[in-house]
Amino acid sequence: MLGGDFERLAGAAIHAREVFDGRTIWQVSSTSRGGGVAEMLQSYLPFASGAGVDMRWLVLHESERFFEVTKRIHNLLHGYPGDGGSLGEDEVRLYEEASAKSGACLTEMISPDDIVFLHDPQTAGLVPAVKESGATVIWRCHIGVDQSNPHVDEAIAFLAQYVGQADGCVFSRPDYIWDCLAVGRIYIVHPAIDPFSPKNQALDEDVINDILTTLGVREGIRPESPPRFQRADGTTGQVERRAEVLQSGLIPDAVPLIAQVSRWDLLKDHGGLMTAFAEFAPGNDAHLALIGPSSGAVSDDPEGEAVYTLLKDQWQKLDCDISDRIHIINLPMDDLDENAVMVNALQRRADILVQKSIAEGFGLTVAEGMWKGRPVVASAVGGIRDQIVDGESGILIEDPRDLSAFADAFRRLLADPELARSMGEAATARVTQNFLSLPRLADYADLLIKVESADRA
Ligand code: UDP
Repeated sequence: MLGGDFERLAGAAIHAREVFDGRTIWQVSSTSRGGGVAEMLQSYLPFASGAGVDMRWLVLHESERFFEVTKRIHNLLHGYPGDGGSLGEDEVRLYEEASAKSGACLTEMISPDDIVFLHDPQTAGLVPAVKESGATVIWRCHIGVDQSNPHVDEAIAFLAQYVGQADGCVFSRPDYIWDCLAVGRIYIVHPAIDPFSPKNQALDEDVINDILTTLGVREGIRPESPPRFQRADGTTGQVERRAEVLQSGLIPDAVPLIAQVSRWDLLKDHGGLMTAFAEFAPGNDAHLALIGPSSGAVSDDPEGEAVYTLLKDQWQKLDCDISDRIHIINLPMDDLDENAVMVNALQRRADILVQKSIAEGFGLTVAEGMWKGRPVVASAVGGIRDQIVDGESGILIEDPRDLSAFADAFRRLLADPELARSMGEAATARVTQNFLSLPRLADYADLLIKVESADRA
């Protein structure tokens, strides 16, 4: 974060306070935990209230069937068939009925002067109700693909009927903008990470070790007093919970660790990463950690448990000399700050972080790893391309299904600690320059002011 950014943010905060005085900015998303949207909203809200802006966050409470349909839309929008189901009349009816109910609850709470941000496909069906209430409605799309295909077109055709009525739409990258939307009310805001959050705050090595021992993944005796960290609200928190881990042994301190943090989602391709690790593992003593939220904890992601079961089966079929070095870690989600600092400690323990996604809207986990000075090896897809400069601040693998290329990258980095160190250093600098959250808040303040002026024109 640079001096100019602080000045810009301070100016934007004053302006936003004036423009939005007496009005509320609502954020509506489909889960309060376990994904990139929740991660960003958790960090934006305190900053907004610190700036004197009344921002509130509502989370959809919908049926499992609704989230099955929206997960299908999510997969299609990433260019994949997902569960292979259609978006026919039944799905439209279910989506619209649920959206009408949630829309009615929402419009009881909001005033015509308010601004409502609706996040991702799960909330798009609320656009018409919010619009009718007189409030300003902005749809924020966090996902997209580099190249469209018939699956993407199907999802867009479904969503555009609602989204087209919004006062503005925000995408993460220019490539993600839908051709069918009216120009003039489309904005680009890059996702970003909060450097002060429990997820990204600096941690001493002792604390990292104690967190990993407490989790039950590191060799060593559980600390007498629980490791402490600073919570998002500034108070002190403690790490006390164990993770549910699939492993046949612990991670020794002396071995290199390769790790990926992700929801249990097929598009994150944990399975492919395990296979790439199996190719790379002979002849070295590295371990692999696959880290995700405890299964079933992410309310809008009905596929999580099934994906986790597939991984478990794959792990059980591996030769013991490989599976003994793979740890599949389900982090407890009871306390979100505690979960965040667990992710932080694991990312900092890792020598290499991986994001082996087949598709990725942005990939906050990439920025998180880069911020911590780790070399990140990632598929060259979606927003990951914007984050890593290949060979400088990490390694991009052009074809996400090229397992040997991932294995080669691991070999290269572990054989050359100086290369790993310099990539990590460049990665921290790149995130500092481009992907921290405070400047993005100023972008949002500017955006709201633009939407307001467009409305008055
Ligand atoms: N995450 C977390 N706890 C977990 C697993 C993931 O907090 O157990 C976070 C992760 O650190 C990141 C976010 O969930 O901040 C995932 O965002 P990303 O953009 O990488 O992917 P998405 O889940 O939105 O597809």
